[in-house]
Amino acid sequence: MQDVLILGGGIVGAGIARDAALRGLSVTLLEKRTVGWGTSSRSSRLIHGGIRYLEMGDIHLVHEALAERAILLRIAPHLVRPAPFLFVLDAREYWQWARVGVGVLLYRLLASGHGLGPHHPLTHDGLVTHEPLLGGAPLLGGALYQDARGDDIGLVRSNIEAAKAAGARVCEHTHAQVHVHSEGVSALLPGGKVISSRSLVLALGPWTDAVRREIGLPSLGLVSGTKGIHVTFSGERFPLRHAVALRHPDDARVMFCVPEPEHGRVLVGTTDTETTESPDHLTVGDADVAYLMRAVRHLFPALDLVEGDITGRWAGLRPLLRQQGATSGRTREHHLHQEGRVLTVAGGKLTTYRKMAEETVDGLGGILQQSLPPCRTADLPLP
Ligand SMILES: Cc1cc2nc3c(=O)[nH]c(=O)nc-3n(C[C@H](O)[C@H](O)[C@H](O)COP(=O)(O)OP(=O)(O)OC[C@H]3O[C@@H](n4cnc5c(N)ncnc54)[C@H](O)[C@@H]3O)c2cc1C
Repeated sequence: MQDVLILGGGIVGAGIARDAALRGLSVTLLEKRTVGWGTSSRSSRLIHGGIRYLEMGDIHLVHEALAERAILLRIAPHLVRPAPFLFVLDAREYWQWARVGVGVLLYRLLASGHGLGPHHPLTHDGLVTHEPLLGGAPLLGGALYQDARGDDIGLVRSNIEAAKAAGARVCEHTHAQVHVHSEGVSALLPGGKVISSRSLVLALGPWTDAVRREIGLPSLGLVSGTKGIHVTFSGERFPLRHAVALRHPDDARVMFCVPEPEHGRVLVGTTDTETTESPDHLTVGDADVAYLMRAVRHLFPALDLVEGDITGRWAGLRPLLRQQGATSGRTREHHLHQEGRVLTVAGGKLTTYRKMAEETVDGLGGILQQSLPPCRTADLPLP
């Protein structure tokens, strides 16, 4: 009998497997496809507090995520690296000038001792000195702030490797039939083998509600995904040196253009739209690509980028907690739902996965009525 069965091998499931195994629990993780195949390989790859969440008043989330950013920079310097960002303001946005200046200073303050470098307002000339490609854009000015970029799928694989090294069993391409009962769960694997476990963790991102239905758990509607697409350009065609955060000229949504020299490309994203598409079959719509192209052409008119210059495109579904309101205004906080021996982890971000995993494993201690050793994932380096 296992202590924990985890369904879902995204960043959250991988983080939980590592933490639980390090605390001495016997763990099996089942992933329907390959680890990281879902949302965790389709993010904007920012390890960030989320400067735009300050506008939503989500101070707690920003503070927590900035603390996690500091931890990931320390334990995974090969996968997460500091990145200075320029927040640019369109000439029409003069009334935002003071607001952005205060915003980046607050961001610095919330990062406490982990600010990573200078945060301050910039004039138009100051912006262009940092990033000459901005010279042709109708900009008022902006601000310099510090964040980090991460390798999302690299973080998943690294957590899986560390989980296995700590004794966890990880089965990919495994869609089990799971039966929940009062003593725990049993999972019938495709080959006919049965795994019994004293507890079940659902770390299923945007698949959460569908799989809960599949295994007969009450339908709670925990997650409501919004679709985000990214496109890439080659570094030669789009020789951006500095990461840029901008407001889209159509609707003022914050989006990013981020150079990824290690991949020889610039990543542009993202969108945030309601969708009825299944996370198994997401599509990159023409309208979404056109939306990103309008922003890029507005900010970098001299490059004359066209859709034919796009070298890559993909879509992901954010596993956001179900809430009323505009898509981009929904919280990125997470929630742990317990029913008997089942824990469902919903919401969250790539950046906060470690904290989500820690809270989940703390919760497992209660379910298993076991006093577990303290979490060590904030200190142990990732492989
Ligand atoms: C466009 C976009 C941009 C983003 N940008 C950022 C960012 O810059 N920074 C940030 O911090 N966060 C970002 N996020 C959020 C972040 O990517 C997600 O919060 C995170 O990856 C979710 O991880 P997860 O493990 O919960 O879900 P997933 O990665 O989706 O993992 C769930 C897994 O469950 C598996 N599964 C499904 N059904 C079953 C089953 N029956 N049995 C077993 N396994 C099953 C799936 O195959 C999948 O691998 C972004 C998200 C999107 C969509």
